[in-house]
Amino acid sequence: MKNKYSIFSLARNALSYHRNWQQAWRSPEPKKQYDVIIVGGGGHGLATAYYLAKECGITNVAILEKGWIGGGNTGRNTTIVRSNYLWDESAAIYDHAMDLWSGLSQELNYNVMFSPRGLLHLAHSVHDMQEISRRGHSNHLNGIDAEFLTPEQIQKMLPFIELDCRYPVMGGILQKRGGTARHDAVAWGYARAADALGVDIIQNCEVTGFDIQDGAVRGVQTSRGQISANKVGVVAAGHCSVLADLAGFRLPIESFPLQAMVSEPIKPIVNCVVMSNGVHAYISQSDKGELVIGASSDTYTSYTQTGGFDVIEETIGAIVELYPLFSRMKMMRQWGGIVDVTVDRSPILSKTPVENLYFNCGWGTGGFKATPGSGHVFAHSIANGQMHPIAAPFSIDRFHTGGLIDEGAAAAVAH
Ligand SMILES: Cc1cc2nc3c(=O)[nH]c(=O)nc-3n(C[C@H](O)[C@H](O)[C@H](O)COP(=O)(O)OP(=O)(O)OC[C@H]3O[C@@H](n4cnc5c(N)ncnc54)[C@H](O)[C@@H]3O)c2cc1C
Repeated sequence: MKNKYSIFSLARNALSYHRNWQQAWRSPEPKKQYDVIIVGGGGHGLATAYYLAKECGITNVAILEKGWIGGGNTGRNTTIVRSNYLWDESAAIYDHAMDLWSGLSQELNYNVMFSPRGLLHLAHSVHDMQEISRRGHSNHLNGIDAEFLTPEQIQKMLPFIELDCRYPVMGGILQKRGGTARHDAVAWGYARAADALGVDIIQNCEVTGFDIQDGAVRGVQTSRGQISANKVGVVAAGHCSVLADLAGFRLPIESFPLQAMVSEPIKPIVNCVVMSNGVHAYISQSDKGELVIGASSDTYTSYTQTGGFDVIEETIGAIVELYPLFSRMKMMRQWGGIVDVTVDRSPILSKTPVENLYFNCGWGTGGFKATPGSGHVFAHSIANGQMHPIAAPFSIDRFHTGGLIDEGAAAAVAH
């Protein structure tokens, strides 16, 4: 039984100098058999396990994570949350997530620091203006908030922005419900809540193969031995194509390093998330005061979690061009994550050629925002043996049928 986090538990633990906090989740030995195994302890995998236990009544579940939970892209992203995508299918899944974000801290009894501070996309060209206009109207049709802003309104929101730069700012589109959430807290919150419902979180346990008999999965091989399971869900982001290979099929996914960086902390100045596809840079300010800056992905596939130096130069150039007052700031940290990119820049939530083996991947550069919605619909899909209606369009079959959901053409920056 987990103690509830509250003002009272904070006060009680303060009296004992915070030495008696209960552990957030157990570290059990793997059992021989589970009803469901989830491969990958990122936000999406943890959320899936949580909803399996909470909403589908399946508690004999293990999450197998080769490193530590949240150590993949979940702990490496720039934490942007939005749902203003172009196509109906994307709007449905990202807005489903948005609905869950708003009550998530209360649901998990864990402060995920969801901060709907607004998210502004800048337009720098006629093409950008046409793109935001098309997307904004599509958002309205899907009941998603989108507000068109003039350069004057943008200048009022961000007095320090340089509108008249190499690619002048011609307008923008604002999703007020968009913003950020604290990525580590999302992983830890789901982990704690899933553990409380009986889910086993097993870290340092790499899946090295699948046991497949008569076309159906029966379990997995791991660095800690064989484990049987009735169903397996793979949620391994940049490594999902490696796992698909182990299961005997190919995924239409390429894995690239995508990088980000943070500056030294400064007083609050950037009051929303600002994204620019045209000069390619996006920025927000963390609660600690650091500027959180997102870059682009490398132009070649790789598994190095760093990224190329040319990308840093290009990104900082774009930031300085739009916000000259940041030109003398020091960058404190830079890192990369391996993003799993599909040809239409939309995810895969799908059954596979192997019965009872499900994949949730292909979130590429923008899956953090979908974490609660993705986990929710994936859990229901695994539990019912049938893809949830929101997940169904994201089937792997679309790469054969041609029914792509082309968000790549809709927005060059998909974070
Ligand atoms: C620099 C950067 C910035 C980003 N910015 C944003 C943003 O602002 N907004 C947004 O929405 N998205 C963003 N993203 C994308 C987002 O981070 C991801 O789409 C999302 O976090 C994916 O979550 P996940 O749980 O699927 O994957 P991950 O968190 O990567 O989890 C997958 C886990 O699987 C584990 N694994 C892999 N292979 C095995 C194996 N064989 N056995 C066991 N475990 C295995 C890995 O160790 C990893 O922990 C960004 C990504 C990066 C890298």
